[in-house]
Amino acid sequence: VKKKASKYEKQAQPVKQTAVLGAGIMGGGIAYQSASKGTPILMKDIKDDAIELGLKEARKLFAKQVERKKLTTEQMAEKLTNIRPTLSYGDFGNVDLVVEAVVENPKVKDAVLTEVEGMVGENTILTSNTSTISINRLAQNLKRPENFCGMHFFNPVHRMPLVEVIRGEKTSDAAVAATVAYARAMGKTPIVVNDCPGFLVNRVLFPYFGGFSFLVEQGADFQHVDKVMEKFGWPMGPAYLLDVVGLDTAVHANEVMAEGFPDRMARDGKTAIQVMYDNDRLGQKNDKGFYAYE
Ligand code: NAD
Repeated sequence: VKKKASKYEKQAQPVKQTAVLGAGIMGGGIAYQSASKGTPILMKDIKDDAIELGLKEARKLFAKQVERKKLTTEQMAEKLTNIRPTLSYGDFGNVDLVVEAVVENPKVKDAVLTEVEGMVGENTILTSNTSTISINRLAQNLKRPENFCGMHFFNPVHRMPLVEVIRGEKTSDAAVAATVAYARAMGKTPIVVNDCPGFLVNRVLFPYFGGFSFLVEQGADFQHVDKVMEKFGWPMGPAYLLDVVGLDTAVHANEVMAEGFPDRMARDGKTAIQVMYDNDRLGQKNDKGFYAYE
């Protein structure tokens, strides 16, 4: 089936060379996905060991493709050359689109975005993979806010089909177009959304987590709720999903949404999710959340 190009894609400038800032969980996944679909990507971090981790993750994902006979070892080697690890901005002059995926800290992101803006060409599109920081707020310090928008991938990047393209007040149609086209070239399904706390997906997901938390606070067994939601047809229940997302990430995102929508999202007292976080049960990242992991 041939997909029709959206109004955005028709005006897209070509995205031939990209870069990702941050080689962490998301940066590594984004580099793999881009490389796997054939768009070269520079992967920049500030630490050598972070780059090593990002590359290791990409190699592991390619190796799985070889195991499943979807790629030959030659094809894997070829695709891996699409990822160019770097600690410097040396080659950023001919990058068409940058995905910023450094730590979720507004000050760090401001510094990194202004820094990279000075290293790229005038038409380069800058995007941020932030989950909780306002795109309009991040655009404030940029010289060319029209070239900036959100590009929000979900974890794990290679498995989650959706990408939210977040349009800020000053984002141009051309920037949205290029970002949508790049997401599509990566094999993803982009949706264009406006800037607001939680964007679109988390505005649906977090009230659901809140409903789950309330049930547990009232004495429901979380494993039972998970089983019920799986029978309902969801691929995993809310407790398991919270473990995947990370309880720290969930608490933080909920705070941001409660600040943005106090009438709808703010809660009095401690939620079950907050109690888990307070007890250092962060989910799969530290091997203990609602469930225990080896
Ligand atoms: P992470 O901590 O795994 O990785 C962050 C990386 O950024 C680290 O390797 C760090 O060394 C690097 N870094 C820090 N400062 C840098 C700089 N100045 N220049 C280049 N690299 C720098 O974090 P993550 O989970 O990959 O999250 C990255 C971003 O993606 C955040 O904005 C987060 O909100 C967003 N996000 C995360 C998830 C998730 O589930 N983890 C999902 C969607 C979006």
